[in-house]
Amino acid sequence: MNSVDIAKRLKKAMEFYQELGFKYLPVKVEHKCISVKASKMLDSKLRSEVKIPNSPLGELPATTPTTDKESALRALREEIGDCQRCKLCKNRKNIVFGEGSSQAEIMFIGEGPGRDEDIQARPFVGEAGKLLTSLIVKLKLKREEVYIANIVKCRPPNNREPEDDEIAICRSFVERQIEIIKPKVIVSLGKVSAHALLKIKMPISKIRGNFFDYRGIPLMPTFHPAYLLRNKKDKWLTWADMQKVLEKIKN
Ligand code: SF4
Repeated sequence: MNSVDIAKRLKKAMEFYQELGFKYLPVKVEHKCISVKASKMLDSKLRSEVKIPNSPLGELPATTPTTDKESALRALREEIGDCQRCKLCKNRKNIVFGEGSSQAEIMFIGEGPGRDEDIQARPFVGEAGKLLTSLIVKLKLKREEVYIANIVKCRPPNNREPEDDEIAICRSFVERQIEIIKPKVIVSLGKVSAHALLKIKMPISKIRGNFFDYRGIPLMPTFHPAYLLRNKKDKWLTWADMQKVLEKIKN
C-alpha cells in the first residue's frame, strides 16, 4: 500500500471516529491498551488477588419468559414501596427503581440517582445520562433495549457517594433486578457500582476493561459517565470497553 492509500484510509478512520463523537484519539496508550492474552492474565491475576465471592444462589438459572420478567420487576417495585429501610429515604423526592427492557442483553448499573434523576424518578437523565444515552446509541442500540439501574435507589444528599451501610441495605434490590433480567453482560459504571457488585476495593482504572464474573454473568467495569464528562480524553477507554462487551454478546 502506498502513502496516498494509507493517508486515505487514515482520513476515513478519523472521520468515522469523529462521527461517533470522539474529539481525541490516543497516540500512545501502551500502558492502558493490553492484548487479549494480557487481559486474560490480568483478569486471572486480579481474581486470585481479590477472590470474588460466589453467590450463595450460585449461577443464575437460564431463562425466564418476558411477561414473567415484567411482572417480577413490577412485584419487586411494589415490594420496595415507599422504602424507609436506610437513611437515604430522608431527603429523596422519588425512588429511582430503574428502567428499560426486561429482556435486555446489556444492563448498565451506576451508583445512585443525582438531582435530575431524583426529580424525574428515572435513572441517568441528567448530563451524565445524556452521555450514557449517546454511548448506547453509538453502539447501535436504543436506550429502551437495555436496562439501566443503580446500586442505591435514592439520591444521596449533595450527590455524595452512597455509604457502605446504605449500599449494604439497598444492594439486594439491584441484585434481584439482575436475577430477574438475566442480561448477557452487566456494565458497571464507576467504582461504587463495581465495588458493590464484585465486593472488591480496587481502583476503577485498574479493573476497567477486564471481564469479571458476577454469578455466572460477565461483568465489565468501566468509567462512570460523570467522570467522563470531567475527563473527556478517557471516553476512548470506555468506548474500547464497550467494544469488548459487544464482542462478548456476539459470541
Ligand atoms: S436507598 Fe434503597 S434501601 Fe435506602 S431508602 Fe432508598 S430504596 Fe430504601
